[in-house]
Amino acid sequence: MPEEYSNYLQNLNERQREAACTDISTPLMIVAGPGSGKTSTMVGRVLMLLNEGISPLNILAMTFTTAAASEMRERIGAIAGKATAKELTISTFHSFSLQLCRSHAEKIGRTSEFLIYGQGQQRNAVIEAIRLLENGKNRSKDGASLVGEESKGVLTPKQFKDKAKKWQKFVTQAKASGRTSADYCELGNEIGAEILVHYNSILKSCNALDYHDLISCSVKLLTDFPEVFRECQDSWKAIVIDEFQDTSTMQYKLLRILASHHKITIVGDDDQSIFSFNGADVSGFMSFRKDFPNYKEIRLNKNYRSTRCIVEAASSLIRNNAKRCQMKNVLTDNSSGSKIVVKECNNEDAQCAFVADKIIEISSSHSETTCSFGNIAILYRRQISGKAFQIAFRDRKIPFNIHGVAFYRKKVVRTIIAMLRTALPVCDDSSYIRVFKALLQFEKDQKKRVIDHINKISTIRKCSFILAASDIFSAKISGTFKRFGEKKYSYTSLTDYRSELTHGRKVLTTLEMISKLVLREKSISAIITSVADLIPEKYLLEKRASVDVDGGTLLNEDYDIRSVRQYLLDDVSEFLSTKFLEIKEKREISEDKGCSFMLKAFLDFLFERETENFRARRKDNENSVTLTTIHQAKGLEWDVVFIVKVNESEIPLLHDYKGIIKETGALVEEERRLLYVAMTRARQKLFILHVMMDSNWQMLQPSRFLREIPNHLLEVQGEMNIQVQLKQEAVQKENAKLNANELLKEQQFEEEVVPMPNDLLNSHITESSNELAEFEEANNGNTFLRRFNVED
Ligand code: ATP
Ligand code: MG
Repeated sequence: MPEEYSNYLQNLNERQREAACTDISTPLMIVAGPGSGKTSTMVGRVLMLLNEGISPLNILAMTFTTAAASEMRERIGAIAGKATAKELTISTFHSFSLQLCRSHAEKIGRTSEFLIYGQGQQRNAVIEAIRLLENGKNRSKDGASLVGEESKGVLTPKQFKDKAKKWQKFVTQAKASGRTSADYCELGNEIGAEILVHYNSILKSCNALDYHDLISCSVKLLTDFPEVFRECQDSWKAIVIDEFQDTSTMQYKLLRILASHHKITIVGDDDQSIFSFNGADVSGFMSFRKDFPNYKEIRLNKNYRSTRCIVEAASSLIRNNAKRCQMKNVLTDNSSGSKIVVKECNNEDAQCAFVADKIIEISSSHSETTCSFGNIAILYRRQISGKAFQIAFRDRKIPFNIHGVAFYRKKVVRTIIAMLRTALPVCDDSSYIRVFKALLQFEKDQKKRVIDHINKISTIRKCSFILAASDIFSAKISGTFKRFGEKKYSYTSLTDYRSELTHGRKVLTTLEMISKLVLREKSISAIITSVADLIPEKYLLEKRASVDVDGGTLLNEDYDIRSVRQYLLDDVSEFLSTKFLEIKEKREISEDKGCSFMLKAFLDFLFERETENFRARRKDNENSVTLTTIHQAKGLEWDVVFIVKVNESEIPLLHDYKGIIKETGALVEEERRLLYVAMTRARQKLFILHVMMDSNWQMLQPSRFLREIPNHLLEVQGEMNIQVQLKQEAVQKENAKLNANELLKEQQFEEEVVPMPNDLLNSHITESSNELAEFEEANNGNTFLRRFNVED
């Protein structure tokens, strides 16, 4: 064994080493608490596989984010050499499936150019499915949704919005769990079954797949096509998976087939399962035991990350969960460290001020425990809580990075991506519509009228949006509409009409320019730079274009066009240095094949960025404070962590976006796990803050979970101190009662989930709160929504 390998293995503890060195044909399951070195052990396992003579080209490692993937590649590269590390396939489930589906697209009824529908496009397809269902049943004459129990009345736009949102969740849940329309028929949910049928056929006719389809189509490819199965068996001779607790039923199915050779290692912690709203299902551990009966299970129980105080506090909290697959007793040899500070603040401003002041204090060189900005993180439940911190930090000149998934939800970014997409051989209507919206230099109403008109024409002529637009704008001014048998176009004045034609033509010219750019330019960087420059300033200054679209996370000034362009260019270089090489090696593609191919591969890479939850870039993190949601902080660690707004209504967050409270045992437990994940990110020092009042002067209660942490581990600051102490005893009794009822509640919850997902409550964790606004706007009687995927 090379010296570097044995050194790495020597530095692991005995159990970690035992795990890493387990015979490679034994299915291995490593279950352990946070900070116990699961990911570190997984690196050791990959080294062992390499040492046993498995080629790096035949190893598949699944991680939860591409950031985690590049981190792992780096760690392995440092030991096994960069060349070897480059040959490994380290991928997320989605990007792995995307590649598989692209390679065999025709087998799943698509062309290899298929589009991937994000949440916005998925929602529009759901709306379309609802309408098709109504039309089929001929129950509606006025266009309002009649699906569901309210079918006797006409729904307001708001009710329709809620309905569509609910059905979107339904579709997501159905796909994550692998249920088909036939399954729903059997369950007696015929409407659900029909919605699924319509939804699937809409996506098929648009040559599109959604995120979940990627996984289920991969499963289909592997089960229905023996040649695909053989190809994968030849390619992936060993598989390792980190963060196993967050795999969905379908993802597990995929793994099981891929790992028919039983050379599989899974690493996870059921107590850290926090993505059930996304279909994650911890029962995967149970299935693994059943499907790989000769498996070996190794538990790690020593926490290397956090102080004893933090480990004990987190353990006390999670102990309150009744539904745990495996009880873990996490210990640590680390020093006890200082107590966890629980701080009550009057309101969110006071909370920000406290955090900012504290950061300045601990980062100053006079402080006893000097800590650089890069070792500090602020964790919150919802994206929106990050905004106030940005303002406070900017005022105090504290560098921070919030480069999360929100970046790809930004309108400007989406517009640039849509512009790039138009240069591909196949492009969807929604990208063209987005580009027209950005490039047409009119006021909102006029813009809407023009786009509506193009849509009308394309509906009448049954052609794509861009074909209709080309026809309209290339036609002579008089007689345009007679030609299509359209009723009179309602322009306000002939001047308006002329300017509309002129501007429409300009947009077409710009689109042509983009296509030419792609043919002419030799690098994606050059294309992005030029494309970003084509966006008119007027559009950038429009409030909703440049201001955050993700519930307030990104401030205007941080993301002007220059920084947006720069961030995209950063991604280009990362893409070129890792991902593109990987694709190139696999498919023997040379760069001379032209930019169009590269562009497509790059857009696929961006898709990964969109689907993942956090991009912790080392570069970004080095000397800036991290602002992130708890979900996005998974697997990461910092010396100092502030968990903010730990209030009832935040953690646990038990109401949906309509404010309706739905408390179930399962939800409370998932929320508890969320706080557990947050607490266990801290190495040295943990602050937990809660506020007394929200911005509407509503009184807020501290989170019930705070009372589950033993008092002797806390340094409570603020008035709640006495109250917390008084309540503690009573609450412990209450919890004991609650636990007894858990199983019963679980059952009820699960029953509810089958026909209709009950996870609306969590909807605003991953989705921009702005989506509702977008939805409302999109659904406001716009007829073109019936046919097109308009996202905004
Ligand atoms: P999480 O559940 O949060 O993903 P994890 O179990 O994957 O955590 P790692 O991230 O692998 O844990 O390790 C946590 C920290 O402990 C890291 O800083 C790592 O370097 C350190 N560590 C792991 N194993 C050892 C060891 N044997 N000796 C010293 N430090 C270790
Ligand atoms: Mg880990």
